[in-house]
Amino acid sequence: MTRLKTYRAKRDFARTPEPSGEKLPEEPGASFVVQKHDARRLHYDFRLELDGVLLSWAVPKGPSLDPATKRLAMRTEDHPLDYGGFEGVIPEGEYGAGPVLVWDRGSWLPEADPHEGLRKGHLVFRLSGEKLRGRFHLVRTRGYPRGDRESWLLIKGHDEEASTTREEIVEEEPLSVISGRTIEDIAEGRKAPRRRSRPMSPRVTRRGRKVNEAVTKRSRASEEGKRGG
Ligand code: MN
Repeated sequence: MTRLKTYRAKRDFARTPEPSGEKLPEEPGASFVVQKHDARRLHYDFRLELDGVLLSWAVPKGPSLDPATKRLAMRTEDHPLDYGGFEGVIPEGEYGAGPVLVWDRGSWLPEADPHEGLRKGHLVFRLSGEKLRGRFHLVRTRGYPRGDRESWLLIKGHDEEASTTREEIVEEEPLSVISGRTIEDIAEGRKAPRRRSRPMSPRVTRRGRKVNEAVTKRSRASEEGKRGG
């Protein structure tokens, strides 16, 4: 698979636990995956399956559910299909060293010809994941501000899944969809999520960040009240 030449050239598979892409996935189909990757800089790798590989973009701030929020997405090298199931730690000294967490995954459906969309610089598609659902756009921007990497924008479409109060879904729902772990759990080599108290009730999580801030302020105020008394 010549499409994976760049991917393979960057990695030493004797040292990194990442897949080499020799193995075919068990369930072929149009999959998508978003991987939280705490490398030199934290980012979210957004990947769409097309023609036997995962088209890939690095999104520094991660996806947003607010259609007014445009997220920078730098196109990166195509990845093998089985990369979508990879969660673990890329060792120190290797390309992209740091923990990788499967933040979301599911299937995607293009709403227009994706090959033409890649050429013209506008992909429109629907996601059916555990966290991300509904219509999204990837739009190529003019110019190549960072070396030879194409710069795109990831934007939520206007639909019933859009939300102006949950623009920071990556912070509200930080856990792995396959293991329930945090990026710290993975970095520290824990196989299962560490038991932790749940700071947010499901109702608060659904209502969004503003409610959470109000709750935090209130509990801080009551803490201070207790200390004062
Ligand atoms: Mn990455």
